Amino acid sequence: MTSSTSPVVRTRFAPSPTGFLHLGGARTALYSWAFARHHQGSFVLRIEDTDLERSTPEAVQAILDGMQWLGLDHDEGPHYQMQRMDRYREVIQQLLEQGDAYYCYSSPEEIDAMRERARSLGLKPRYDGTWRPEPGKTLPAIPEGRQPVVRFRNPLHGATSWNDMVKGPISISNSELDDLIIARPDGTPTYNFCVVVDDWDMGITHVIRGDDHVNNTPRQINILQALGATLPQYGHVPMILGPDGEKLSKRHGAVSIMEYDVAGYLPDAMVNYLARLGWSHGDDEIFSREQLIQWFDGSHLSRSAAQWDPKKLNWVNAQYIKNSDDGDLAKRVAPRISERGGNPDAVDLDAVMALLKPRAETLNELADGAMLFCGPWAPAPQELQDEVLTDDARALLADFLDSARALPEWSTPALAALIKEVLSRHGVKMPKLGIPLRVAVTGQRQTPAIDAVLAILGRERVIERLQAL
Ligand code: GLU
Repeated sequence: MTSSTSPVVRTRFAPSPTGFLHLGGARTALYSWAFARHHQGSFVLRIEDTDLERSTPEAVQAILDGMQWLGLDHDEGPHYQMQRMDRYREVIQQLLEQGDAYYCYSSPEEIDAMRERARSLGLKPRYDGTWRPEPGKTLPAIPEGRQPVVRFRNPLHGATSWNDMVKGPISISNSELDDLIIARPDGTPTYNFCVVVDDWDMGITHVIRGDDHVNNTPRQINILQALGATLPQYGHVPMILGPDGEKLSKRHGAVSIMEYDVAGYLPDAMVNYLARLGWSHGDDEIFSREQLIQWFDGSHLSRSAAQWDPKKLNWVNAQYIKNSDDGDLAKRVAPRISERGGNPDAVDLDAVMALLKPRAETLNELADGAMLFCGPWAPAPQELQDEVLTDDARALLADFLDSARALPEWSTPALAALIKEVLSRHGVKMPKLGIPLRVAVTGQRQTPAIDAVLAILGRERVIERLQAL
């Protein structure tokens, strides 16, 4: 809980718009969102679009769509880095003026040579500090016509440490770090630098992101320190692996969050599954958004990589479907029935959902199942009719038809009672009537409970189809 003395929590999701919103990104966004909501803080959306070649407006839209589908609402933004170039230049200037950054005129060939030299001495390839100003050091003459880069003057000694919310204490020796280029020869700022200025300006208190950024963190911390900024807390979430233990990729099926919408997953189920993938609250597997927010305090984030498990996702989705309101499911499934060429208004779709939801894993399965009621009527193939609709079976059906016509109330219990009555009249067991009824009225041998199916189809259709035999 936020107390009046603790600073307001501000988290951010900072995707690079170079493709769809993938599962790893969606989970990072979810964690940042849930943490902000837990602390009644703010969740900021920032689009890191400085890679002009790879960033597209379509990808920005895909990110916004994906977040909206998951219900991850942001309080601020989207901020676009491309709109903040003046600000980055200003801070570069500030660092130059305060002596924490310097112009470096080494050519790419010279840098290559430095690296080669270091390598041949068995050292880590790095910039050798030729242009780094030091007290009493004379810098080389500025080569004519060469545009310099700007480098950050990284501390040479000591270590940069932080207590990672996920990984615990991490310490990197500064001797491992180069003097990072923060502006290119044309003056444009580089990636790590923009992130630093943004996190600072946007007052981010907690940076939750993928652990592919662990290596960037000490560099970012050193720049933040040079700027006199308060450091955010960092939490680096391990990546998501495919079921085979390899990095999750297209090979493992869908990786864009919106493909799960198409495939019939409920956003709440997806949020539940993604939350649990790398975080836990005791043994709880199914929890509401409210519970997630209540519990998501930054603890119990897993240090080891999570494994994508399509079976478990299906199980989670099935639980959500089972617990969904019939009317809500009907609304979500209706367009999928239309896509399949069915008419969602043909029957009471709420009743169809109630019938099918205990056994469906996806909305698409519900739509497939609903086609029994909403699809065009297709009598059973002749072969199946010949096999099932024997003379004995027809006699039973004829009896059923007579009583069905006169049934005072057309409902599942009334039809169940009628079926029982016909069975006992003829001294036969359920399959003897159940299978011919299914084949005659639905064209299929297997359907959900036949009394419920008949109730939903309605008296008119049932009688019409039985009469047509
Ligand atoms: N834009 C980076 C990415 O999409 C994230 C940067 C960050 O979270 O600091 O991987």
